Amino acid sequence: MTPEVPVTSCKLLINGQWTDAKSGKTFAAWNPATQEQIGTVAEAGPEDLDAAVAAARAALEGPWGKMSAADRGRLIWKAGELMLAKLDEISKLETANQGKPIFESSKIDVPWSAGCYQYFAGWATKITGDTVGISPGSFNYTLKEPAGVVGAIVPWNFPVLLATWKLAPALAAGCTVILKPASQTPLTALKLGEIFTEAGFPPGVVQVICGPGATTGMGMATHPGIDKISFTGSTETGIRIMQAASTTLKKVTLELGGKSPNIVFADADLDSAVRGAANGIFYNKGEVCAAGSRLFVQESAHDNLVAKLVERTGKLLQGDPMDPKVRVGPQVSEEQQKKILGYIASGREQGAKCVAGGEKNAVNGKGWFVKPTVFTEVKPDMKIAQEEIFGPVLSVLRFKEIDDVVRLANDSCYGLASAVWTSDVKKAHRVARALKAGTVWINTYGIFDPAIPFGGYKMSGFGRDLGRECLEGYLNTKSVWVDLS
Ligand code: NAD
Repeated sequence: MTPEVPVTSCKLLINGQWTDAKSGKTFAAWNPATQEQIGTVAEAGPEDLDAAVAAARAALEGPWGKMSAADRGRLIWKAGELMLAKLDEISKLETANQGKPIFESSKIDVPWSAGCYQYFAGWATKITGDTVGISPGSFNYTLKEPAGVVGAIVPWNFPVLLATWKLAPALAAGCTVILKPASQTPLTALKLGEIFTEAGFPPGVVQVICGPGATTGMGMATHPGIDKISFTGSTETGIRIMQAASTTLKKVTLELGGKSPNIVFADADLDSAVRGAANGIFYNKGEVCAAGSRLFVQESAHDNLVAKLVERTGKLLQGDPMDPKVRVGPQVSEEQQKKILGYIASGREQGAKCVAGGEKNAVNGKGWFVKPTVFTEVKPDMKIAQEEIFGPVLSVLRFKEIDDVVRLANDSCYGLASAVWTSDVKKAHRVARALKAGTVWINTYGIFDPAIPFGGYKMSGFGRDLGRECLEGYLNTKSVWVDLS
């Protein structure tokens, strides 16, 4: 099914060298569409992590720390250029290992990653402190200094893009980064290591170590030589990381799970709302932290909207993710497929009505696919309305008035993203203010830009990726006092 997939180096990138794990241990990387092994990857142990931390510290205090901001910016820009030059190769690798349609990898994940490096390249020369004129007797100013060695731990749903969301600002801020991809999707993170090496970054500035979260990831969260953990993943793991990082009082930013409400009022442009609802849940086969997994539809538009949505869902082409026409690929792993099928069963058991999909799928008998699924008659206390499914399963709920829907939408432990569809400008902004979420899209869904901060309220985490704001997470502020009296 997936010919000529370029397999990357599967060693660890430590101090500018591709090395095997000291223990000699490896693990397998899989193609979720073919169920074939497509890589054997070195598994980092504690000695490998120690070596990476030492190299990251040496680079910080050596060539990287001494480099001008302009030169740092040039290197980051170069990384973006190299990504574009290798777009085809990286996209195929991402699709082969993650299962996301090649349409998404090649049109979104890889070009957006390149754009993110190029956006943050510009910030390298624009990070400044303040002068603070508080009293005639002293001169005060602040310096913004790199937070130090960053441990970036990322999930498997947008492997290259979410690694980039950490790397680009951390490097612009002058930090060094040890990147740990998810065990399911290590291949494009290793490809990023090749790109940074080729771009000419000094050894130790960007290092890539792979391995299980419970050992390699936890080793990073507790390591005294790491100054900051920038984490994206599940809320459960985020809690563990925060607890572990507290033993050395590391800075932590956490981008966690979601159960995002997508609210459609009867006065909305329903065709656009249907498009937004389908993209909001079926993009990347629902493996999206900001997926619009709870669709709230105003009573009078409900049946019409559901009919259009079911029709659209039925037309989504599911299949070999390397086919440019395919819009829904396989789930990342068999474990994820099983978890999603469990939620589908629970939706049925709890009395929701399955109006599209609702079962697994396969292509030529292979692949961890789940059909795009829509449930109606979902009640707010059902599991499928409360828990993050992280798959192509949409829960549709009815509402009557604006106050009801705001209350229902906020009735979640999560607060990552949200959307509102209406032609009434006042209503749109009232709802945007009332929603407890880090992002509100109005009459659109799921758009991002490196300049716009992204992150959560409540148990969706804290701190922000992207935008000027995220740079603060990679900086320390030093106050300097000069006596003028
Ligand atoms: P996960 O939490 O299982 O794993 C994420 C990363 O953490 C992986 O690299 C994993 O190896 C590592 N890890 C796991 N256990 C660890 C531990 N005890 N100590 C240190 N590291 C550990 O998440 P996942 O299943 O890979 O990804 C799905 C989750 O990520 C979903 O909940 C999703 O909502 C969330 N997510 C959030 C965002 C966001 O920006 N808020 C973006 C994408 C995904």
